[in-house]
Amino acid sequence: MLIDGEWRKTAEETPVTNPADETLLRAVPVAASNDIDAAIAAAERGQRVWQKTAPAERARVILAAAALLRERAEDIALASTLEQGKPLAQSQAEVLRACEIIEWDANEGRRLYGRTIPAESGLRHTVLREPIGIVAAFSPWNFPVSPPARKIAGALSAGCAIILKPSEETPAGAIQLAHAFLDAGLPAGVLNILFGDPAHISQRLIAHRSVRLVTFTGSVPVGKRLAALAGEHMKPAIMELGGHSPVIVCADAPVIETARASVQIKARNAGQVCVAPTRFFAHASLYEAFVEEAAARAAELAPLDGRDPACRLGPLANARRLAAVDALVKDAVSRGARLLAGGRQVERRSFYYPLTVLADLPANARAMHEEPFGPLMLIQPFTDLDDAIARANSLPFGLAAYAFTDSAQAAERISSEVQCGNLSINHYVASLAETPFGGIKDSGYGREGGMEGLHCYTTVKNVSHRLR
Ligand code: NAD
Repeated sequence: MLIDGEWRKTAEETPVTNPADETLLRAVPVAASNDIDAAIAAAERGQRVWQKTAPAERARVILAAAALLRERAEDIALASTLEQGKPLAQSQAEVLRACEIIEWDANEGRRLYGRTIPAESGLRHTVLREPIGIVAAFSPWNFPVSPPARKIAGALSAGCAIILKPSEETPAGAIQLAHAFLDAGLPAGVLNILFGDPAHISQRLIAHRSVRLVTFTGSVPVGKRLAALAGEHMKPAIMELGGHSPVIVCADAPVIETARASVQIKARNAGQVCVAPTRFFAHASLYEAFVEEAAARAAELAPLDGRDPACRLGPLANARRLAAVDALVKDAVSRGARLLAGGRQVERRSFYYPLTVLADLPANARAMHEEPFGPLMLIQPFTDLDDAIARANSLPFGLAAYAFTDSAQAAERISSEVQCGNLSINHYVASLAETPFGGIKDSGYGREGGMEGLHCYTTVKNVSHRLR
C-alpha cells in the first residue's frame, strides 16, 4: 500500500495468482482501519499542497510520470498479463492507452477555465472551476492499468488528491503507476493506494467528511451499493458499471468483414470488457452468412497463455467468470440456442474458455439479459430496424452500442434512438482519451475521459463581486 509517499505492508495478506496456471505470483496487504485513516490524513495534506500547485507544474509532473510509464511499458505489460491473463500485446496496448489518457488529462488540466458573466456596470460574476477535493477511487481487475490511470490522471490533473483501491486480484498495474508518479516528483500524500477488504475500505472512505468524490468501475450490484453509500453522505459519484452491448448489423453491411471484426473484438480480453459487443442483431438477409463466418473465425482462436506470442485469446481472469460463462452457455443451449463454436471448457487446467458463438437464442435465455463478461457472441436475426432498436434498448443496461451500415438514414435513426452512452458506427472503438465515456440507465452515470470527465473532478463556484 502507498500511504503518504511510503510503501507499507501488513501482516495479513491476500494472494495473487496467475489465471493461466494458478501459480502464486505475490501477495497484497490488507488495510486495517488505522491504515485507511492514515491514507485519508495523508490525502488531506496532499490536497492542500497539490491544489496550490500551479496547473503548469502539475502538468509537468503528470507528463513526466507518463514518460516513465512509456519507458517501463514492457515490464508493466508483462506483470499485467501474468496477473490478469490477457495476451501480452493487449497488455502493452493498455499501458500505451493509459499513457495517452494521462497525457491528454495533464494538458487539459491547464485549460479548466471558468468564465465571466456579463452584468450591470460595477458588478462582475466570475465562475471559478475548483478542484473538488479528495477522491476515493475503486478500479477493477479486467483492466489493471487503464482504469486506475484514468482515475489518477483525472484527479491529479484537476488538482485533487486521490486514494485508490485497485483490485486485489490485479494489483501490479496500479503499483507501477504509483511508482512512476512518485519518481516523477509527485508530492507525498497526493496519491495513496490501499488494498484489503473492498467493503471495509469503501465504507470507511466514503463516510469520511474529507472525501469529496467517489469513482467506481465494476459491476452494477456493487455500483448500486456504493452509489447509495455516496448518496447517504451527499458525495457525488462517477459510476462506470456493466453493459450488454448490442450490435445492429444492417442489410447493407459488408457481412464477412463485419463478422471478422466482431470476432476479433469479442476475443479482446476474453470478452471481459464492459463495452464488449455481446448481442448481435443481424439482418435476416445476411444472418446465416454472418453466423457462419463468425463461427469459423471463432473456432480458429485456441485459448493460450497470454505470454505466448501466438495468443489472441487468453484465459478468463478468475474461477468466478469461468463458472458464470459456462452456466450461461449451458442455459442457452438447454433453451434451444444453436451452438456453433466453443461452448465447453478447454481440456486444460485453469480458466481457459473458448470463444463461443450461439445463434437463434430464445429471448428467455439468461445470457440475453445477464452481462456475460466473457467470450460469448449471441446472435439473433431481425427484419425491421424498429424491432432491432427495440431489442437493443430492452435491457436495463446502456453503456456501449454498435451499428454497421452505410445508410445515412439508418445511422441517423440508430444514433438518435439507441439508448447508450457510447455509440460507434462501422467500427468497434468505444472511447479515446479525448472523448467522454460512460453509461446511462443501470450502466451508471458521470463520465471518464474528455472535458466532461475532467469536469467531474471539479466544482463550480460563482463569485459575484460589486466593485466599489
Ligand atoms: P463483483 O461484483 O464481486 O466485484 C466487482 C468489483 O467491485 C471488484 O473489483 C471488487 O473488488 C469490487 N468490490 C466489490 N465489493 C466492493 C465494495 N463493497 N466496495 C468497493 N469495491 C467493491 O464482481 P466480480 O466477480 O469481481 O466481477 C464480475 C462482474 O463485474 C462482471 O459481471 C461485470 O459486470 C463487472 N465488472 C465490470 C467492469 C467494468 O469495466 N464496468 C469491470 C470489472 C467487472
